[in-house]
Amino acid sequence: MADEILALDEELIQTYCSETGLPEGRAKGERGRTIGQLRSFAALVEEGSWVEASIDTAIPDRTPVPKPDLRKMLVPLGPVVVFGASNFPLAYSTAGGDTAAAFAAGCPVIVKSHPMHTGTGELVASAIIKASEKTNMPNGVFSNLNSSGIEVGVELVKHPGVKAVGFTGSIRGGRALFDLASQREEPIPVFAEMGSVNPVVVLPKALEERGGSLAQTYAGSITLGTGQFCTKPGLLLGIKSEKLNHFIGELSNEIVKIEPSCMLHPNIIGAYEGNKQKAVSQSDLQVVADYESDVEPNFARQTVTTVEGKTFLENSTLHQEVFGPYSIVVQCEDVDQLQQIIAGLEGQLTGTIIAGEDELHQYKGIISALQNRVGRIIYNGVPTGVDVCPSMHHGGPYPSSTDSRFSAVGIHSIKRWARPISYQDWPDSLLPMELQNSNPLEISRLVNNEQTHREI
Ligand code: NAP
Repeated sequence: MADEILALDEELIQTYCSETGLPEGRAKGERGRTIGQLRSFAALVEEGSWVEASIDTAIPDRTPVPKPDLRKMLVPLGPVVVFGASNFPLAYSTAGGDTAAAFAAGCPVIVKSHPMHTGTGELVASAIIKASEKTNMPNGVFSNLNSSGIEVGVELVKHPGVKAVGFTGSIRGGRALFDLASQREEPIPVFAEMGSVNPVVVLPKALEERGGSLAQTYAGSITLGTGQFCTKPGLLLGIKSEKLNHFIGELSNEIVKIEPSCMLHPNIIGAYEGNKQKAVSQSDLQVVADYESDVEPNFARQTVTTVEGKTFLENSTLHQEVFGPYSIVVQCEDVDQLQQIIAGLEGQLTGTIIAGEDELHQYKGIISALQNRVGRIIYNGVPTGVDVCPSMHHGGPYPSSTDSRFSAVGIHSIKRWARPISYQDWPDSLLPMELQNSNPLEISRLVNNEQTHREI
């Protein structure tokens, strides 16, 4: 699949750019990530230990009852339906992380193509089909379905042949599909990775020492990719002070210096303008930076607002994600109010602490409150940028994902598409190779509580 996607060459890059308004560098970067994901799953499957084989050999003379021979491993769940988000037309779409992980687990995949990049989707689908033909995969191992409404997706989730769903997108869409799947006669899992405001807590000493450079860094992070990342910092939290005021001023200055850029599609800019308008029309909210000059159609104006901690606590509308280059700075009365706000936040993909090292000890309550709400906690960095590697967790407490135990990024995301099965007293020759005595695949297994590559 990776080779066939690369072979699409310029046609893929041109189609991606013309459908999304994203620049060529981003298209190539995302293609590299997509290919890297596919290859890393191929390596995982070739190595084979991901099935978590575990063997407890029989003890026939155990008293009072003999112990049976038990052998367990992961097996594929069955056909998986994948919904990609519009903001990652390659890496979280047709051949993105969900598709790669589901194939690696051994599941057929049906993609519900995102209507805002159907051309890119069709090209990638043609590459997958070519690859599956060349490698003699069964017909129907992959399908790509287009639609301009939600009906196709709804029917797919309801179809009795479908055994799991992978979704990347909005909370509204993910939740609707989750509810639909749980209402089926046979409920199925929906692993939805959804929106997040990615709180950033700026502690006083860090603000005092690095306020200026932080403002510049955060102006860049809020506007990166026109704010169209699920990890965009949409909420900055600090304790009221002169320094915080100064930081807000600097952030405002920096953010309006950045040239507005094109959003992915008319629906997304419409949603951005609408959600931003809803946020800024809330009482006691102050707009501190708004790009005022004219912009081209579909270009987003970056905006920063600020509000008192008490107002934020009392108004949940201000907690909602505004997908695009928008962020709100909350000025808390004191540490207690800051902690109360963090503890009351919905589940998040990420949380960031900007602090001096000694402040980490001083503000332990804040850190533990944040840890409770997020899937990834960052120290002195920015949440945008999701490295693909086994130790990355991309997911978090609801509503950032529907199951915080699983990541949508990295090789461990394969676990979403597999289930364990135990074989009791099964004849060796009829066991899957992963569980046979001679360990023909030479994988790592847990044998009588010892992790080993040895045969039995
Ligand atoms: P979206 O509008 O939710 O669409 C995602 C997909 O779901 C589309 O194919 C869409 O099809 C389908 N869909 C949406 N609602 C549906 C429903 N009720 N029934 C059936 N199908 C439905 O998301 P988006 O605008 O493309 O992406 C932006 C959002 O994704 C942001 O909120 C962002 O934070 C989030 N995101 C999250 C992550 C993550 O990893 N957590 C990554 C990237 C983006 P139709 O368009 O045909 O309705």
